[in-house]
This record gives sequence, structure tokens and C-alpha cells, in this order.
Amino acid sequence: MSAAPKPIPQPEVKLTGVFINNKWQESSSGETFETINPTTGQVITRVAKGNAEDVNRAVDAARAAFHRKSPWRTMDASHRGRLLNRLADLMERDANYIASLETLDNGKPFAMSYGVDVPYSVDVLRYYAGWADKNHGKTIPVNGNFLGFTRHEAVGVCGQIIPWNFPLLMWAWKIGPALATGNTVVLKPAEQTPLTALYAAELCKEAGFPDGVVNIIPGFGDAGAAIANHEGVDKVAFTGSTEVGKLIQQAAGKSNLKKVTLELGGKSPNIIMDDCDLDLAVEGAHNGTFFNMGQCCCAGTRVFVHRNIYDKFIEKSVQRALKRVIGNPFDMKTEQGPQIDQEQLDRIMGYIEVGKKEGANLAVGGKRVGNKGYFVEPTIFTDVDDNMTIAREEIFGPVQQIMKFDSLDEVIDRANDSNYGLAAAVYSNNINTINTITQALQSGVVWVNTYNTILPQTPFGGYKMSGIGRELGEYGLEAYTQVKTSIIAVPHKMS
Ligand code: ADP
Repeated sequence: MSAAPKPIPQPEVKLTGVFINNKWQESSSGETFETINPTTGQVITRVAKGNAEDVNRAVDAARAAFHRKSPWRTMDASHRGRLLNRLADLMERDANYIASLETLDNGKPFAMSYGVDVPYSVDVLRYYAGWADKNHGKTIPVNGNFLGFTRHEAVGVCGQIIPWNFPLLMWAWKIGPALATGNTVVLKPAEQTPLTALYAAELCKEAGFPDGVVNIIPGFGDAGAAIANHEGVDKVAFTGSTEVGKLIQQAAGKSNLKKVTLELGGKSPNIIMDDCDLDLAVEGAHNGTFFNMGQCCCAGTRVFVHRNIYDKFIEKSVQRALKRVIGNPFDMKTEQGPQIDQEQLDRIMGYIEVGKKEGANLAVGGKRVGNKGYFVEPTIFTDVDDNMTIAREEIFGPVQQIMKFDSLDEVIDRANDSNYGLAAAVYSNNINTINTITQALQSGVVWVNTYNTILPQTPFGGYKMSGIGRELGEYGLEAYTQVKTSIIAVPHKMS
């Protein structure tokens, strides 16, 4: 993207309803809820509060749009790709407005929402647009007088429940592959950050997606639960906490055994070897922990540092944390905005207290910044023991844990000693170390001399309690397709 334009600090909020069948409506109860600006703690606007009844209406619309004779089902696959590309074009057209709206509702620095969230969303939509007419089956040389082939068919109505840390990007990760493969969608954004999902719904209509293909229900966990329990939903994709992920899996089991993909929490290790490029590693670990105010499921908060460089690494990490620019997210110099809400702020401050109580050394930070909005100092704990609460539980805030290690074998075992397995990284210049670590770590991705590198082309997802299934890349298509076999008797076989 070109140089960022001046953000719009008070973007007009145009769309606050429930979006069903390409129409804006009130919620069936008529109720609304507040969405809060985390920078100030003040109300931005009120949004329709969708409930189970709204989910029913949206599922009906999505089912009708999935009927075998519907415009959507009879459309060329290539045309689905064209519509997704048009949606990406519209997002680029409105990038400044969307990024400003994201910063208002979520608090993330405009430099990030404009430089990362919007263009990465566009990239994902374009990537999956390209797949629309390329995700094909096989002709199989079968036994007997038969012709055998497979088709990759859409699953049907897809329920999608997304979190507040990357509101637009998670929307694109969910919508892109679902629509490329011909499904219809009922999506619920997080209650903290509904605004960009609603604006993007209007762009779907403008792009020309037929009625009922995309439906967006703003609301709380009850609306999410209604999606997960619904008999008319064929698949549910969820990104959020491990706790709610378990409920989604149970709901699918208790209802219609809908397909489930889950992208959940993490406590990712970042291993810093003594042969690394130290400055690169310090910056990588800093980015790995503090990017997006630490509100990343793949945050590398368990930083294991080799004994030989431990003191130097800490000194440089503390210096870097002290330089981190915190403040108004609409200021282009700002690196860190507020946490999402009071609840998260309280949780993070609670973990910092527990860290101190359990005997970790608070090297820098540890305090709330100001008393307006939900800002927290970049915080580093050193001399952290693997069994401390702050080394085991996901904090989802700007809090880094640094641990010391002696040998490769030891650090691999310690890194793998977690219920989670979403991401991991190693900083090293030794090819044997790198090859050993990339094979031995139990996580969905292992980064080498980089962190947070998530690309549309490569799959992302969790081992262990970090999730089920993969998003992005060719593998991401599997969640949204079924394989159908056709076997046709032929009078004369030619093998
Ligand atoms: P966080 O703790 O980060 O807010 P959650 O897992 O609570 O993450 O929320 C992620 C998404 O799941 C949000 O859209 C939220 O409204 C939704 N959600 C919360 N509870 C439930 C539930 N019981 N069933 C389905 N969705 C839920």
C-alpha cells in the first residue's frame, strides 16, 4: 500500500443493524448494545443486539440462498471469484475509512489498521478469489467397468464466530474461503468490535453477492451459541478463547454434528539461541509479544533465552520496551494503543500482580498508563519459572515472560510443555539447530528468524488445545468443502 493518508479521527458510523438477505434490519427484540471506544472508554454508538431469533432468520436466508436452483448455486465458480475480487477492490477504495473505523472501535494504532489489517484482509480475499475455479476434484482409475471422479462441493450454511482482536481480518479469513467455495454465511462479530464487520457487509452487497449469501448478526455469546446449536447450520468456524471453543464443539455434538473448525488460544514459545543475530532477535521477540497490544492468539510470550546471551538480551529488550510509543492510536507515531476493554485491562493487571507474587522479576512496566481508556505499560518479567501462572496461562496483553535455558534438548522439552500449540519461533543461524527445532516443536507454525509472519498462502492453526483444522492456504479450503465421489457404470472400459 502507498503511504498512509491522514486518518479520520471521528469516522461517521453508518451501519449498526442486523444484516440479513442484503437488507438492514433492527434486531427482532428491538434491543441494542453500546460499542465503546477503548481509547476513551466512551460510547461510540449503539448497535442492534441480535439474538437466537435473528440467527434463525439469518439461517433461513442463508439456506434459501444455498438452494440448488438459487442464483448463487447456479453461478459459475469463476464468477464467485470475480465477486470476491470486487469486494477486495471496494475495501481498497474505502481503506482509509475502514482503517479509521477499526481504530475507533478496537483502539489499534491507525498505522496498523491501515498498514496491516485492511491490506491483509484484501490479500486474503484476493487469494481465495483465485481459488474459486481451481479447487477441483480428480478422475480416478478405478477397478471394474466404472468411471470414478470426485467433486469438491460446498458444505452449505456456515456459521462463523469471530473475536475482537482483528475484527476485519478475522472477517476476511472466514468469509474469503467460505464464499470462494460456494457456501453461504451467517457471521457474528465480537460484541466489542462490530463496526467494520457491518460496514464490510454493505460492501458485499455493493460487490453483487446475491441476497442471503452473507448475513451478519451483531450480538453476544447467546447469538454465537444459537449459531453453534442450530440444526440448519452445516459448519461452524470459531476463533476465540479455548473455553468457548470447547462449548462450540459440544454444541455441534449435541445438535447436528456440524463440521467444526476452531482457532483458539496460545502460549507460544520463542527460542533465542546464542548464535542468533541479537538485535534481530530482540526486535522479533518484542514484536512477537507486544504487537496488537499483546492481543494475539499466536503471541510469543514465553521467550526462552540461552544462558550465554541472557543478560544482554534482557538489557536490550528492556531498552526497546521503554522506547515503545504508547498513546492516541490515531497518531501515526503510536505503536501501542489501549487494550480492548475494562475486563481485559483488569485481567492483565491481575496477571501482573500474580507474576510479582509468584516471584518473577518485574524488569520493566507493570502499571496502567493514565486513568482514561485501557492502556498498559509494556511489561517484561525475567527469571520466570516454567511453572508460574504467567508462564502457563494466556495473558492476552503486553506482558513478556523471559526464561533462561542451557541446551537445545532442554529447551525443546520445556517449549513443548504446554496445553497449547499454535505458534513457535527460533532465532538462530545454525542450520542444524533450525532443522531440529522446526521438526521437534509441537505447534501449527514454526517461524525462523521472524515472528508473526502469517501469509494468505500458508496454513495457520493449532496443535493440542489451540484448535482444530487450518485456515489460510490451500489447506484452508478443506474446512469449507466436502468431497463427493461419483461412480458411473460404463459399457466399455478403456483403462
Ligand atoms: P474473548 O475471551 O477473547 O472475548 P471469546 O471466546 O469469549 O473470546 O469470544 C469470541 C467470540 O465468541 C465472540 O464473538 C463472542 O461473542 C463469542 N462467544 C462468547 N461466548 C459464546 C458461546 N457460549 N457460544 C458461542 N459464541 C460465543
